[in-house]
Amino acid sequence: MLSVKNLTACYGESTILDQVNLAVAPGQVVCLLGRNGVGKSTFLKSLMGLVNTPQGSIVFDGREMIGDPTYRRARRGIGYVPQGRDIFPQLTVAENLQLGLGMAGGKGAISDKIFSLFPVLKTMLARKGGDLSGGQQQQLAIARALVSKPKLLILDEPTEGIQPSVIKDIGSVIKQLRQEGNITILIVEQYLEFIMTVADYYYVMEKGQIVAEGLTKEI
Ligand code: ATP
Ligand code: MG
Repeated sequence: MLSVKNLTACYGESTILDQVNLAVAPGQVVCLLGRNGVGKSTFLKSLMGLVNTPQGSIVFDGREMIGDPTYRRARRGIGYVPQGRDIFPQLTVAENLQLGLGMAGGKGAISDKIFSLFPVLKTMLARKGGDLSGGQQQQLAIARALVSKPKLLILDEPTEGIQPSVIKDIGSVIKQLRQEGNITILIVEQYLEFIMTVADYYYVMEKGQIVAEGLTKEI
């Protein structure tokens, strides 16, 4: 489903990703671990085409992304939640969710499925995103990434700064999605207990390289 081979990327003169190899099989939940500044977010950004001139190979859903000018279109099959609270604070919860369906798509219906995964959002549709708590904003950001039914969901530190009860709720959403099996999930995460409950497989990054990998049940 996602296969990355010898991926290298630089910011100016500094090499941030150095020959990264990583694979995520369909339906799997895979976690990328590593200390601050090793290149985890840069890796996710490079999958989204947000890093200039990466070298190597990124095959998503059978298609090579690097060097493909239609890459942007293929990326519509990916839901990406960057690090931090990625919402539009001036827009309502309902408008934030609509944006997940795409600017050009006009107004579509947000499926009941989203509200069954994130019941708290249903009670807050008219509120401004910026008035939600940090945990609610994170749930909104994940919900927005899911409304277009992506094949691949990428989460960058979804538990960062989030209180334990909301971490549990986010964990339940990931477990439910995994059980249903229609989506593949890649998570950058530091919180080991969370990883062990939601992920099947892990990779460890150090200085832009993968230095270890294995089954989370064997951690
Ligand atoms: P954290 O755990 O703190 O989120 P990370 O593993 O996600 O860290 P990255 O954000 O990928 O790390 O950053 C990797 C390196 O690239 C860091 O040294 C950072 O300073 C550098 N870097 C990140 N973004 C840029 C940028 N836009 N321009 C130049 N250097 C950058
Ligand atoms: Mg990061």
